[in-house]
Amino acid sequence: MEQKQHFRPTKAIIDLQAIKNNVNRLKNFLPPNVQIIAVVKANAYGHGDIEVSKAAIEAGATMLAVATPEEALHIRESFPNIDILVLGYSPVSFVPYAAEKDISLTVFSTEWVHQIQTKTELLRPLKLHIKIDTGMGRIGVTSANDLLNLYEAISTTSNLIVDGVFTHFATADEEDDLYFNKQVMKFEQLVNKLPQKPRIVHSANTATTLVKDQHLLFDAVRFGISMYGLAPSSYVKTKLPFPLEAAFSLETELVAVKQLEAGQSVGYGATYTAEKTELIGTLPIGYADGLIRKYSGQHVLIDGIRVPIVGRICMDQCMILLPKAYNIGEKVTLIGKQNNEEITIDEWATRVETINYEVPCIITSRVPRIYL
Ligand SMILES: *Cc1c(COP(=O)(O)O)cnc(C)c1O
Repeated sequence: MEQKQHFRPTKAIIDLQAIKNNVNRLKNFLPPNVQIIAVVKANAYGHGDIEVSKAAIEAGATMLAVATPEEALHIRESFPNIDILVLGYSPVSFVPYAAEKDISLTVFSTEWVHQIQTKTELLRPLKLHIKIDTGMGRIGVTSANDLLNLYEAISTTSNLIVDGVFTHFATADEEDDLYFNKQVMKFEQLVNKLPQKPRIVHSANTATTLVKDQHLLFDAVRFGISMYGLAPSSYVKTKLPFPLEAAFSLETELVAVKQLEAGQSVGYGATYTAEKTELIGTLPIGYADGLIRKYSGQHVLIDGIRVPIVGRICMDQCMILLPKAYNIGEKVTLIGKQNNEEITIDEWATRVETINYEVPCIITSRVPRIYL
């Protein structure tokens, strides 16, 4: 794939082979009749939707899932034939476009179906997946009555097709099964009330797929975080049925090196002060790239050695403490490996008290994604 020229050395390196290996291992782990839905919402968790989709399809994914109409349209431009499902809300105004582009939509409101009946003329079939809310409290029908009314409304509208039915689990990545099992029971009860089983019943996110009972795989699994080589939680990390390969690295280069004398400071607020003669390196990455100020203190790798980010992180730059003088242009790895050292996305997440999902998602579009 053609990549445009980048001058600033800050870049995210995406290892597409790692993504393929993760999908391939999942494929070997799943019973042969279970399809893989590659979850590529949010620009493939910040990894790049088009390139990740291509890798996932090559490795055996048969469907792509996104969160928004815009994400679906973007992917459709590059993949004319693959099934695409919008997992989140789509307004009725998107319906004609979805039908035209063969994009499947999530439905959870009878009123929404009635609006299609009255407001739009569907010239082509539109595939729908009914969402059942079994305990996320987000979107989805919550009762058998609502489910059957919705099913009936869809079935009696020409060109609307119930292609799937699904739910989403709130606690699949936790060891305690109590709430999870309640959701499972509700899903099975409601699905069994449908007059006809839709083509694709699905419930499993990554955590469910990897560590819960095999009957929950149904016809397809929605494989998100572990396609990118990350575990959904520390609990699931201890139970992985196959190894995962991280796909995301973040690299830059030293752009300046200077010597501080004892008492001299670095950055806004002069929050870091040298206690003796020290060497400070400047990196061309800052909070506008997603390196939020809370990451101050986080280690980076230079010459295979861990060194800390010191002082406040600026919008476009930050400073690191160097153990010795390096040349301008020396490679610095913020996420990834150098020699025997590795800085993981999980380490970043722990530092800012969040989950690994959030880390690559918030690396902004100013950081080019370079594909291996
Ligand atoms: C994001 C999302 C997924 C993927 O979750 P992972 O934990 O990354 O596997 C699956 N299903 C729905 C409905 C989602 O919104």
